[in-house]
Amino acid sequence: MPTVNAFAATSASGPLSRTTIERRDVGTKDVLIEIAYSGICHSDIHTVRGEWGDITYPQVVGHEIVGTVTEVGSEVTLHKVGDRVGVGCMVNSCRECENCIAGEEQYCLNGNTGTYASVDRDGTITQGGYSTHIVVVEDFVLRVPEAIPFEKAAPLLCAGITTYSPLAHWKVGPGSRVAVVGMGGLGHMAVKIAHAMGAEVTVLSQSLSKQEDGLRLGADHYYATSDPATFDKLKNTFDLIVNSVSAKIDINAYLSLLRLDGTLVSVGAPPEPLPVQVFSLFGNRRSFAGSGIGSIRETQEMLDFCAEHGIAPETELVAADYINEAYERVLASDVRYRFVIDAATLA
Ligand code: NAP
Ligand code: ZN
Ligand code: ZN
Repeated sequence: MPTVNAFAATSASGPLSRTTIERRDVGTKDVLIEIAYSGICHSDIHTVRGEWGDITYPQVVGHEIVGTVTEVGSEVTLHKVGDRVGVGCMVNSCRECENCIAGEEQYCLNGNTGTYASVDRDGTITQGGYSTHIVVVEDFVLRVPEAIPFEKAAPLLCAGITTYSPLAHWKVGPGSRVAVVGMGGLGHMAVKIAHAMGAEVTVLSQSLSKQEDGLRLGADHYYATSDPATFDKLKNTFDLIVNSVSAKIDINAYLSLLRLDGTLVSVGAPPEPLPVQVFSLFGNRRSFAGSGIGSIRETQEMLDFCAEHGIAPETELVAADYINEAYERVLASDVRYRFVIDAATLA
């Protein structure tokens, strides 16, 4: 088994640090990927800090991975040595349940195998992208189009697909009025993708400090949620609200902004519940929904969509030794708009 360099959490409260981990030998249907870049998702922070439940340490996180194929198993047909590829939030699923058969393996009824902190098919705990190499079964590996700059592509594998999927599911297009709550890693991708789909896009951010960026990225309107007048002004306005906030917010206040048959979909995953008053849903026959990542098929569709529309995440490239500082900046909403680790700094 190859031993590779990585950056791991060793407890819920301590900093992440350098380590080595073992990757499995390349199986007949596996590809070995030399990781080039790995994004930092807020889910990595929720996970290592035990906010979603206890995990086993040491744990390497990271599920926004791009790299180059350096070895393929004897039965691999989808990828070849030298290909630019990506790996997102899952690396396998049962392939047998109703949802897997429907091509929605992110909702595998037996639990998809997460790229990290998940029990793998061989019983080991999966270790994520803050490392130099990863071995993944070929059909959970994506093709990264040449048109997307490689050093910016990684965040598409989670932030991109997690926002593309609900926008596509709720059929956003010309004439749709879409609001994006929180302009961080997911939020800024929601703005770019919804704009490219033809929607009228409004950002609802805590303050106006990122207004100029929001408008540059494709938003038509930008409001501060710290100003109570925002909620009066925008009552009954939106067809779809994508909530990307990592913390608890007053969901009823945001539901009041939906027009007839509008939906508020939460992709943000705070550890605390978001209590809903049913009366917030009665008016305008509103819906409150959730959405988790996206299927492999849809992730490829999203990558191709981004290539076609010239969409790439706004990123700040950092060295591995900066990960702990990057976490503090993500928690302070001081990220413009996704940190990407240069895996060469782990070598
Ligand atoms: P992020 O970069 O930290 O962005 C979150 C944004 O939420 C911040 O930039 C900030 O935007 C806003 N925010 C933060 N704290 C807030 C507070 N107390 N009140 C109001 N707004 C606040 O995080 P991310 O990586 O985009 O992830 C966002 C959430 O999505 C996380 O909970 C993550 O775990 C979850 N997630 C879910 C899925 C899924 O499959 N559903 C996939 C990936 C991530 P402003 O400064 O603009 O207000
Ligand atoms: Zn993520
Ligand atoms: Zn399944």
